[in-house]
Amino acid sequence: MNIILFGAPGAGKGTQAKRLVEGRGLVQLSTGDMLRAAIDAGTELGLRAKDIMDRGDLVSDDIILGMIAERMDSPECANGVILDGFPRTVAQADGLGQMLADRDWALDHVIEIKVDEAALFARIETRAAETGGTRSDDNAETLKKRLAVYHENTAPLLPYYEAKGLMRTVDGMQSIDEVGQAIDSILG
Ligand code: AMP
Repeated sequence: MNIILFGAPGAGKGTQAKRLVEGRGLVQLSTGDMLRAAIDAGTELGLRAKDIMDRGDLVSDDIILGMIAERMDSPECANGVILDGFPRTVAQADGLGQMLADRDWALDHVIEIKVDEAALFARIETRAAETGGTRSDDNAETLKKRLAVYHENTAPLLPYYEAKGLMRTVDGMQSIDEVGQAIDSILG
C-alpha cells in the first residue's frame, strides 16, 4: 500500500506516519527528514539545502525527486511507502506518478490532515520546546513563510488528487489517537 500524508507544516504528518510504520510495517519516506540527515552529515546537498530550509522555501524538484527515486528502489520499500512532506509541488506529483507507473505501483490513498492554521503557531512553538530547538525552521517567522509556500505551491495538489478520486480528509484538530483512528478507518 502506498500512501501520501498531506497537510500544512505542523499538521501532524510525521507523527501519523510513524504510527503507520509501527502498525502496518510500511516505510516512511520523509523528504524533510532526508534533508535534515544530509545537513547533519555535512554533505554538499545538506549545505545547499540548509539556507533554503531556514528561509522556509522549497528545495528544487529535481533534488527531491532524485532522493525519493533512490529510496524507492531499496528492498525495504517493497511493502509500500508512506510519503510524508512529499510531493509538495505539481511537478513533484507528476514525477511521483511517473516513478510509480515505471514500477507498476499504485497510489492507494492521499490523506489530508486538515488543521486550523492559527493553531499551527502554538504547535510549532511546542515542537520547538520539545525538540530543544533542533529544527531551525520551527519559529513563527519561518512558519509564516512555510504556510505561504504551502498555499502557493502545495495546496494545488488538493484538486490534483481530488480529480484522481484519491483525496480523503481527516480532522487534524483531534487528539493524535483520534486522528490515527480516522486514518485507520480510511485505510481499512
Ligand atoms: P518538513 O520536515 O517536511 O516540514 O520539511 C522541512 C523543509 O525541508 C521544508 O520547509 C523545505 O524547505 C524542505 N522540504 C522538505 N520536503 C520538501 C519537498 N518535498 N520539496 C521541497 N522542499 C522540501
